[in-house]
Amino acid sequence: MVVERVLAGRRAPEVETVAPGDALGRVLACEIRADRDYPPFDRSVRDGFAVRAEDLPGPLRIVGEVRAGQVYPGEVGAGEAVETMTGAPVPKGADCVVMVEHTASEGGRVTVDRAYQAGDHISPRGAECRAGDVLMRAGVRVGYAGVALMASVGMREATVYRRPRVAIVATGDEIVADGVEPAAHQIRNSNSHSLAAQVRLAGGEPEILPVAPDELDATAALIERGLEADLLLLSGGVSAGRYDFVEQALEWVGAEFYFDRVLIQPGQPLVFGRARGKFFFGLPGNPASTMVCFEVFARAAVELIGGMGEAELDLAEAALAVDFRHRAGLTRFLPAVLSEGGITPVKWAGSGDIAAQARANCLMVADPERPEYRRGERISVLLRR
Ligand code: AMP
Ligand code: MG
Repeated sequence: MVVERVLAGRRAPEVETVAPGDALGRVLACEIRADRDYPPFDRSVRDGFAVRAEDLPGPLRIVGEVRAGQVYPGEVGAGEAVETMTGAPVPKGADCVVMVEHTASEGGRVTVDRAYQAGDHISPRGAECRAGDVLMRAGVRVGYAGVALMASVGMREATVYRRPRVAIVATGDEIVADGVEPAAHQIRNSNSHSLAAQVRLAGGEPEILPVAPDELDATAALIERGLEADLLLLSGGVSAGRYDFVEQALEWVGAEFYFDRVLIQPGQPLVFGRARGKFFFGLPGNPASTMVCFEVFARAAVELIGGMGEAELDLAEAALAVDFRHRAGLTRFLPAVLSEGGITPVKWAGSGDIAAQARANCLMVADPERPEYRRGERISVLLRR
């Protein structure tokens, strides 16, 4: 994709040091390495008896027990069993752990009701990884399992990339400032807020600038301010209307453009370029267009500028729960609900329908060359985070 190509080879962002718990959602700037073998010892993964498989079914003499956190001091000999708990080191001499559910014990003896093989219910030392192995690389986002991994290898701190600062400029004479009651012909600013939320989810730090009126000078002045951030997002004012000044204002500050139109709906007019060493997107102003174009194009930029090694769309496939048709020609990203029963488009009244977007839990991606889908047929889905 153009965005990835353009952003490839950029300078790595600065790093900061955080405690593992604070690395959640951040992009790792260091490797996570195993400090020792995992598991660090041959570990029982069941409650039961450590035995020699060849001795089964018994009866075997119960010669002791080992709890998690202890080490059995002796060795399991022929015809012997050691009662063993989940998480305990398997006693020497034993080669499998039989589940307590498969045994009957009486008078210090245990009998097993089925055959076992050497290795059963033992997670051998090093089965997960070896000391020194790289378990997570720099450039990936840390989730809760990543936090657990850092804790388990004993990391007290981790380096992560600084969150990219993303300036947001909405445009439009009809938009009132936050907190102002709109007159009947005016609207509140929702795009700055959806974009700020999306930036946050993509790992960036949003900075909402004032709304630009539909005037060249004022728009250019706000663009100049926005270009002080790591990335600038504009919404509205990129169509062909007489008062759409965004592209002109960007040219005025010396922008170069990589593209100014995309073949998706909602979308179409969408500019991506660079000015004063910073990247910017001019997103179409319809609320659904702004949201969708951010997800499909700008999210990758936030992630890559934020140090991620790659930024791929979260695409999956699902079976349609209903018949579906659309006008061919453009790739459509439509609000939809994905559930166990399949995927169902949400009824919507066009690109201004914010409530329909809010009811959706994903975007359905309709193929430009395929106007008709039958119920049960598979369709692409852009998952939402
Ligand atoms: P534009 O792309 O500027 O032609 O705007 C397209 C449509 O989106 C118009 O109906 C605008 O009123 C609406 N719109 C533009 N900016 C915003 C915004 N920040 N919040 C909500 N709606 C907006
Ligand atoms: Mg406008």
